[in-house]
Amino acid sequence: MGCILASTTYEEQFKNFLKKNNLKFTKERREVLRAITIQRDHFHAEDIYQQLRKQKSNVSLATIYRTIPLLIDSGLIKGTIYGGERVVYEKVYNKPHHYHMVCLNCGKIIEFICPDMEVIQNNICRNNIFLSTEYNLEIKGYCQDCRRKMMNEKKEQKIQ
Ligand SMILES: [Zn+2]
Ligand SMILES: [Zn+2]
Repeated sequence: MGCILASTTYEEQFKNFLKKNNLKFTKERREVLRAITIQRDHFHAEDIYQQLRKQKSNVSLATIYRTIPLLIDSGLIKGTIYGGERVVYEKVYNKPHHYHMVCLNCGKIIEFICPDMEVIQNNICRNNIFLSTEYNLEIKGYCQDCRRKMMNEKKEQKIQ
């Protein structure tokens, strides 16, 4: 049965989830889901809203905010970065576990995979007889472009 899940689309996955919870696959929910499937890796609720505006949809931002928890519970997306003013979401369905570096200046997000980290966290949990259900690693700092800009600004200040 495992391979059936792997081949299901976002829409099927969401439909199954709604059905299990006695919820309807409404036109609004379908539009929000479709807008999400065409988003880049990381997005804000407002990005979905802009996408729907472009498509002349009348789904409100409130509806988007109400639909997001359903999409999270169905395993399609998750809130991934909570640091700033707005939550960054990303699609997680069929995506390998990964971590993020976030630039404090421009907000750029760099994804990375680290199999060693999985081993380390497994060992830490085993040593503490702890069953982990979720863990995150987020590195905050400055991306290469922003660091270059900062260095140039410093140089200019020295020259003046
Ligand atoms: Zn940056
Ligand atoms: Zn990511």
